Amino acid sequence: MANLKLPSYLAQSETVKARFDDLKRRDVILEVSELGKTFESVNGPVTALKGVNFRVHRREFVTVIGPSGCGKSTLIRILAGLESASTGEVLLAGHPVDTPGPDRGMVFQGYTLFPWLTVKKNVTFGLRNQGLGDAEASREALEWIQLVGLEKFADVYPDELSGGMKQRVAIARALAAKPRILLMDEPFGALDAQTRSKMQSYLLEIWRHIDITVLFITHDLDEAIYLADRILVLDANPGRVNEVIEVPVPRPRSPAQFLQPEFLSARQRLDELIHPPSTTEEAVGLDLSRFVRSGEKTDAQD
Ligand code: ADP
Repeated sequence: MANLKLPSYLAQSETVKARFDDLKRRDVILEVSELGKTFESVNGPVTALKGVNFRVHRREFVTVIGPSGCGKSTLIRILAGLESASTGEVLLAGHPVDTPGPDRGMVFQGYTLFPWLTVKKNVTFGLRNQGLGDAEASREALEWIQLVGLEKFADVYPDELSGGMKQRVAIARALAAKPRILLMDEPFGALDAQTRSKMQSYLLEIWRHIDITVLFITHDLDEAIYLADRILVLDANPGRVNEVIEVPVPRPRSPAQFLQPEFLSARQRLDELIHPPSTTEEAVGLDLSRFVRSGEKTDAQD
């Protein structure tokens, strides 16, 4: 890809620029300031996050990517209120986050549905804090189930569903609670490539139709670009925001855009940030000499 003549990932068409101008004028829903997290371990303290700062605007879709161990899971667990920060602050719609709450919906990789409840009952569970009567809760649950296209499966149990369908129910259940933000931690990581690609498009379709802000963790470069308005690229040791990329790809998105120059330019930039040349050299520099029989030439010697 290095030889392709691509536009700069910073170049934006008029439409894309106008979209970002509009987005930046919207309210800030999530504000993360000087966030840090240090774990005590048997080998001494581990600084998982240090000086992390960013803001997410209403109805924005932000993806978070970075090498393994850069603190992605720690960050989302702090945002979810499942882990406390060592330093700094998280504000959601102006309120400090320190415990889990219904203002955050969560969809994680492992299926978190209750296996003993039907699809409808699982989604109704998401409505439990809203003081609705049974009939109203059931009607509303069905609306969310329809939104994720599973109305024919309302009365079946999770075991009877495919992985993709289970995650659609998890999304419906999270959204039913009407959170301000949806926190997604590699939600499609366990799915096969084709289902994953379908789920990405489903999610974008749902997001387009409702007032929801999304923070989505992934380690898949294409997924990070395809879904996002902006991508937070984290660095490891300590975990911090290395760069924020405004994705120059217009919306609505479709898989056909994967081969367009603006997609490829963002892909190239992410590649540079996530796989800098030194790490590639390390990988390529493996000492394989003992696997080569003496007298045999390797490709590198040609
Ligand atoms: P990622 O999700 O990006 O792979 P994590 O948030 O899981 O990264 O971890 C960031 C760093 O914090 C890693 O070095 C990891 O070993 C460390 N870490 C995470 N959780 C704990 C914990 N409970 N105790 C000690 N160290 C931890």
